[in-house]
Amino acid sequence: MTIDEVLPIAPGRTAGDWTRRGGTPAAPSRGRLRPLGLREVTLLPGFWQRRQDVNRSASLAHIEHWLERAGWLGNFDAAVEGRLPGARRGREFADTETYKLLEAMAWEFGRTGDLELEARYSAIVRRVAAAQEPDGYLNTNFGRPGQQPRYSDLEWGHELYSFGHLIQAGVARARTFGTDELVEVAIRAADHVCDVFGPDGIAGVCGHPEIEPALVELYRVTGDRRYLEQAALFVDRRGHRVLADIEFGRSYFQDEVPVRAAEVLRGHAVRATYLAAGAVDVAVETGDTELLDAVTRQWRAAVARRTYLTGGMGSRHQDEAFGPDFVLPPDRAYSETCAGVGSVMLAWRLLLAQGDPRCADLIERTLFNVIATSPSDDGTRFFYTNTLHQRVLGTEPAADTQVPRAASTLRAPWFEVSCCPTNLARTFAGLAAYVATSDDDGVQLHQYAAARIRTALPGGRAIGLDVDTAYPADGRITVRVTEAPDAPWTLTLRVPHWADGATLDGVAVPPGQVRVRRRFAPGETVVLDLPVRPRLTAADPRVDSVRGCAAVERGPVVYCVESVDLPPHVPLEALRLDPSIAPEDRDGAVVVAGRLASLPGNEWPYGPPGRETDVRALEVTLRPYHDWAARGPSTMRVWLPLAAG
Ligand SMILES: [Zn+2]
Repeated sequence: MTIDEVLPIAPGRTAGDWTRRGGTPAAPSRGRLRPLGLREVTLLPGFWQRRQDVNRSASLAHIEHWLERAGWLGNFDAAVEGRLPGARRGREFADTETYKLLEAMAWEFGRTGDLELEARYSAIVRRVAAAQEPDGYLNTNFGRPGQQPRYSDLEWGHELYSFGHLIQAGVARARTFGTDELVEVAIRAADHVCDVFGPDGIAGVCGHPEIEPALVELYRVTGDRRYLEQAALFVDRRGHRVLADIEFGRSYFQDEVPVRAAEVLRGHAVRATYLAAGAVDVAVETGDTELLDAVTRQWRAAVARRTYLTGGMGSRHQDEAFGPDFVLPPDRAYSETCAGVGSVMLAWRLLLAQGDPRCADLIERTLFNVIATSPSDDGTRFFYTNTLHQRVLGTEPAADTQVPRAASTLRAPWFEVSCCPTNLARTFAGLAAYVATSDDDGVQLHQYAAARIRTALPGGRAIGLDVDTAYPADGRITVRVTEAPDAPWTLTLRVPHWADGATLDGVAVPPGQVRVRRRFAPGETVVLDLPVRPRLTAADPRVDSVRGCAAVERGPVVYCVESVDLPPHVPLEALRLDPSIAPEDRDGAVVVAGRLASLPGNEWPYGPPGRETDVRALEVTLRPYHDWAARGPSTMRVWLPLAAG
């Protein structure tokens, strides 16, 4: 069988032409913009291709190794062999990391057709499929003698969350290949969920949203409206106190206010973004503009008041949650990597639905400063949380150690809760999908990376674009038309919100979007120049924790100071930034004018204002935040206090 064959997913139904196009991570049936497939956008050498390659060549195998080693894959074998619950390893949601690996492998296969990867994928699928029970239920942690009964702990059990990731893996496989054993397992699981939680079933929801976007995506693949209706039911049930109260309050799992009545994203940040992504999916497929407007409102409020400079979301360690408006302390940033993934999922769905370039702006910020920050250069260590201020030197976890989720202060190989590495893996494998979209009239570029784009507009009008750029190191983006219909069409380019002074073919263009509509001849180029000079950024004064500070950004990249870049005997906490001297590019780094301040004595930390004095001036080198801690333990800060006077 070749991957170009389109296999039936359900009677009379195929995955459409997605298998030919390489699949795509979210495929709404309507909306302002249409996604492209992973074979329609090929990343070429550059910032993102390098990370995607490391993901394929190192991270996928690293994750597979740890799933075996930690026994989480073995849980499926133990289920088949009747060795549960005694042999079970890992947390209640450990099954999901296998599903997310399978999803990553499916996208990767769609992109590359790598047969060695396909063999590894198939071997894992056989073990997972064998553990599915005759009624479609599949979870190694519940329902057997000696285990908790099925669905006896909707608050914390993560059973529907686990099904959600299983279904998303099945969707990825269906879109990139057609039907197979995993797709069948996913459909049986979804049917089971609809049987048990349908209108006449258990009137509950899962403590961790995820089943919602998964069911809508399965509806998009199979055409079976039952999945869409079940997802809509889950979205509408939540917020009516259907889950028990917990120590963090019901807002933790977004069950205190109905989805369509909420004003802002709140509670556990991963839960909040997954739920909102699922609500957008439901709204788009059912034409529910009230629901779409509600999520859009919540997203805008969260971006305006609850998001770190890096795009990170979640400032509370206690419950991994959004804090109140403007509570964004850099040294207490939780900013879980998975919340970054969830934020990209949500912003991408809103972008497809409405075409608002602000969504692509946030995706860019989050990709460069959260998603790119988490993995090490070699793709085998990861940040779970992404602080903006490290006050004490971290410790490097040993390569064979599994660490608690946020306990490590440096990138760690694996976690007891290891949601982030697998979430990164599926994101990197599907990354090309976020670069561009199409509509009836043309192609839109949202993210800038060296890439080759080959797609077709309705009516078979083929369009080819080669994007040549060293972005974000350099701001010049050259788009060469390689194939075009013999009629006018529109090429749309995003101009990021920070890009004051951008030009298109030498003509000034404001932030937002610039559209070029004409009859393009093959070989023609369009050149967008974005000003990626370093710049100082201040926060809204209501972000009290960084008042009187500035950060340095260069294009979409946030910079930081690390102690390893300071001269000997210069403590990071005594460093001040002189804003009167413009920051300068120098050899891939940014150099700023700093001052060293005298620090007060240590007996009592309070006294009259204005006690600080400057000792001397010095130059300070900042490097991209996504590279921090790559050279061993360091203290670090993104926000630098401004020098007095
Ligand atoms: Zn995570």
